[in-house]
Amino acid sequence: MAYIQFLGAAGTVTGSKHLINTGDVSGKTGFQALVDCGLFQGQKDWRERNWRDTPVPAKEIDAVILTHAHLDHCGWIPRLVKEGFRGPIYATQPTIDLCGIILPDSGHLQEEDADFYNKGKKSKHDPALPLYTFEEAQNSLQYFRPVRVGETAELSPELSFRFVRAAHILGSCMAEVSLRTNGQSKRLLFTGDIGRVLDHKVAPGKVVHWGPQEGEVADIVVMESTYGNRAHPKEDPLPELASLITATARRGGSVVVPAFAIERTQKFVFILKHLMESGAIPRLPVFCDSPMAIKAVEIFLKHDEEYSDETREMIRRYGSPLEWAGFTFASTPEESKKINAVLTPCVIISSSGMVTGGRILHHLAQRLPDPRNLVLFIGFQAPGTRGFAIKSKTEEVKIYGDYVTVRAQVAALEQFSDHADPPELLQWLRTFKNRPGRTYLVHGEPDASGQLRDLMTRELGWDVKVAEYLGKVEVG
Ligand SMILES: [Zn+2]
Repeated sequence: MAYIQFLGAAGTVTGSKHLINTGDVSGKTGFQALVDCGLFQGQKDWRERNWRDTPVPAKEIDAVILTHAHLDHCGWIPRLVKEGFRGPIYATQPTIDLCGIILPDSGHLQEEDADFYNKGKKSKHDPALPLYTFEEAQNSLQYFRPVRVGETAELSPELSFRFVRAAHILGSCMAEVSLRTNGQSKRLLFTGDIGRVLDHKVAPGKVVHWGPQEGEVADIVVMESTYGNRAHPKEDPLPELASLITATARRGGSVVVPAFAIERTQKFVFILKHLMESGAIPRLPVFCDSPMAIKAVEIFLKHDEEYSDETREMIRRYGSPLEWAGFTFASTPEESKKINAVLTPCVIISSSGMVTGGRILHHLAQRLPDPRNLVLFIGFQAPGTRGFAIKSKTEEVKIYGDYVTVRAQVAALEQFSDHADPPELLQWLRTFKNRPGRTYLVHGEPDASGQLRDLMTRELGWDVKVAEYLGKVEVG
């Protein structure tokens, strides 16, 4: 019997990994494909699952279909390859380009974490090892295969798929999977993360113009539910953003923005430029601090085929951020450390977006104790992450083994989210041409998934369940 097994992002927002097994009439294992292969982040008991083997050996998995380049969807790929996977990894070209810088950077961070842990230990026996190294991440890139949006890729006689737009981030797609089993054809839709283009006027800096694809037909839907329990504010966030930055500069403070290094950072940089040019905020120095800073801008500018009109107009008007006066892109560790010496008002944008690691840590360690500063969140913070703790107004947070007191102002603007909220999801789901037999909600905290399940059952009459970690569901 063909089945789907949820190997991650079930009961949590990270670690997306869904196994499709096509089954086999002779009883042996069928063709096996993973949809997404993400890293668990956040709470320790979830992170520890990054160290467990997949329930089926990695070398028996035949292919990976990757929806997009966020680490919680792609960050376990180097580990899968390290464990013996040798099949193709199908993704769009922008996703492949983004993975080409994100995965090696993730490997580098894994090595740094292991080194840091080992330095603190007295015994050199039993040293901490990285989940994968920079080199192992680079090695995994050879298995990527580009697939165009809308093109059908045949993976095996039983399994094919097509990417359709998800409108989440650059290159992001949903996967429409066709599965032939027991003489029947079944259609499975894996949404990956769903963007909010239907409401783009309140999602400023939106890059991706198309999607989510309307008029879907599916027998089974596996759908994200990150924002299943709350609607995004509908007001334009730019006036509030401008007043937060201006007030911080007036009191002599700096603005620290934890943000995903690619796309979210570039979009935010264009918004800052726009606010400066229109006189809404003072012309403060802006530092984009990421080892991938310059390459990230280049990839962002290369894939203009995915931009909204608004984004295309901003790029036409302002050109490449690499050329702007007052904007600094810090690629090396030395350039990053130099920012610590800037004690006059500035804006620092650095990753990781949920403060789980990376250079944002040293900026926060330095600037959190000063009440003149502002820490501004523009992205989702998963429970268990430092970002979640700071956003929840914790009094102190542990960074590099020391407790840092939080005296800086903390603010969050939810409008920059790249995830659809319940009204936007319903608007999209109502365009389906059929009522899917079953829908499984993934990629949500239990309360978010549960509330979205109830809403969809009530409003659409669909059969909706919340996926369980390692749970198997039959197809056909
Ligand atoms: Zn995502």
